[in-house]
Amino acid sequence: MQNVCHSFFNVADNLIEFLFPSSCPLCGAPVSTHGELCADCWTSFNWISNPKCVKCGYPFPANLDLGDRPLCPNCAAGNCVLDFIRAACVYDDASKIVMLPFKHSGRIKYFNFMSRAMMWAIRDMSDLPDVIIPVPLAWRRLYHRGYNQAALLARPIAKAMKVKIDLDSVHRIYRPDMGHKNAKQRAENIRGVFKVVKPERIKGKKILLVDDVMTTGATFSELRRVLIDAGARAVYGLVFCRVVKSI
Ligand SMILES: [Zn+2]
Ligand SMILES: [Zn+2]
Repeated sequence: MQNVCHSFFNVADNLIEFLFPSSCPLCGAPVSTHGELCADCWTSFNWISNPKCVKCGYPFPANLDLGDRPLCPNCAAGNCVLDFIRAACVYDDASKIVMLPFKHSGRIKYFNFMSRAMMWAIRDMSDLPDVIIPVPLAWRRLYHRGYNQAALLARPIAKAMKVKIDLDSVHRIYRPDMGHKNAKQRAENIRGVFKVVKPERIKGKKILLVDDVMTTGATFSELRRVLIDAGARAVYGLVFCRVVKSI
């Protein structure tokens, strides 16, 4: 029976493939796996690989030999916003082409390849989290956008890691957009927007925060503050892309 079901689903899969051939979500070129990018689009991204900071994932120039466990000056000085951070790629003109429609124009089909790239980025994390929390959206923003882009990315990651996803232990109050404010203004603007409403679910837990982009790290830093206050043991972060400024 199992074999019959199996072959039925294989036939169904092949039929779907035949009727709707997989295409690159960015340019529409044919690809072999549903949701994957074509080779041209894939190479247009600035994917972060080694050498990078072992703690925050800050990418170093490829020709630098910094040994097995390089630390960026920020982490070496003990100023990392979280206990561990990974990003799949750099926030630049290529990733912007994905990020803006994904976040603001309902292009949610991108989440497939984005979350897969994020899983690849976090493969060197030795300490598995107990729970994944997508960075919460304020209700008002969720109502207008219709979806939380961080939650879309977090779901397949939680499934692959076999870790629970928590969508309601932390709430966020609405504040107008941060726009192009500098690091200090961003930190001030985000102070106090998060509230842990179910501290019993946070206490003693190692938490992985998931978001689409990390700009100055102010959001992660503020979330970490409230989670640690609520008794979290460690707070890690994973994003699709991050702003990389020279340090
Ligand atoms: Zn393409
Ligand atoms: Zn670092």
